[in-house]
Amino acid sequence: MKTRCKGLKSTCGKEATVYLGYIRRGFCDEHFIIYEIKRMSRTIKRYNMIKATKDTIFVALSGGKDSSALLDMLISYYNQIEEKYRPKIEGIHINLGIDINSFSDKSQNIVKKLCKRLNVPLHIIDLKKIYGHNLLEIKKSNQLRSKKICSICGTIKRYLLNKYSMELGATKIATGHLLDDEVALLMKNLIFGSIESLTRMSANLETIKEYNLLAKIKPLYEISEYETLNYVQIKNLPYISEKCPFTNQKSKKMKNVMLDLEKEYPNARYSLLRNFNKYYRTIFKTQNNLNTKPISKCKKCGQPTTMKICSFCRIMEKL
Ligand code: AMP
Ligand code: ZN
Repeated sequence: MKTRCKGLKSTCGKEATVYLGYIRRGFCDEHFIIYEIKRMSRTIKRYNMIKATKDTIFVALSGGKDSSALLDMLISYYNQIEEKYRPKIEGIHINLGIDINSFSDKSQNIVKKLCKRLNVPLHIIDLKKIYGHNLLEIKKSNQLRSKKICSICGTIKRYLLNKYSMELGATKIATGHLLDDEVALLMKNLIFGSIESLTRMSANLETIKEYNLLAKIKPLYEISEYETLNYVQIKNLPYISEKCPFTNQKSKKMKNVMLDLEKEYPNARYSLLRNFNKYYRTIFKTQNNLNTKPISKCKKCGQPTTMKICSFCRIMEKL
């Protein structure tokens, strides 16, 4: 039997195009989009992510569907609100110079197209132009250290996003991290007992000015990949459907395992994340209080680190 959309407040009755198992409800295109924006705005409020009149939010845009959906949802949500209560929203993209299948060029073009369509200012930070080397060249010169390319890429992205967003006037960086990402990481940390990592997991990391650490927020923290995929397709938003040539297969497997669990327990992932935030986090925090490494400033570049020299500077030293 075909499922019908029940609308949000009043009945709709159109045929449902998206079915969300965790609330056992189907939506037509129009009501699905409204529902997702509401869901994101609830997460923003729940975790106190944005101070609308004070914040300048830089949305970290990779060209992928999640950050494309995030930017559109933020713009759509704040467009419903009086202008004086809106935060400033801008985009920032890191071009890592991955030339396999012209991946980085394609990603950058998508991001440009998206920002043009949504009328959002965009900042492009080009690794090779600023530091003289692209990701693969940096990885090659780091071969003696057994660091994986995804880990080097992650360090570079975090570093550049933090440094340049702060310099360009952002008060917060918003990333497209999803329920799927957070739950997979949570499970990995639980399985391997990475207590310090568990205590650091958060939807909302605050600014620490004295260490040049800029706040990070994840407005899609409670939204799944299935939802962002439907969102970008219904709204016909530009996004790159190809995966990065270095995509981490292990983390993909963990995501699939957790997704499978929802066939039996439809709300399992959301519930795990909620309970972690409500109850378990404080337990891990008290357990780990004495062991957390204090944050300081890198002796070379002044960016935040828990060591004397930050990971980015140590990677660049090998060049
Ligand atoms: P990933 O770690 O690739 O799953 O990406 C997680 C989030 O980080 C994305 O949703 C983006 O918000 C951000 N991000 C990833 N790659 C880039 C990039 N090249 N430039 C800007 N932001 C990025
Ligand atoms: Zn440094």
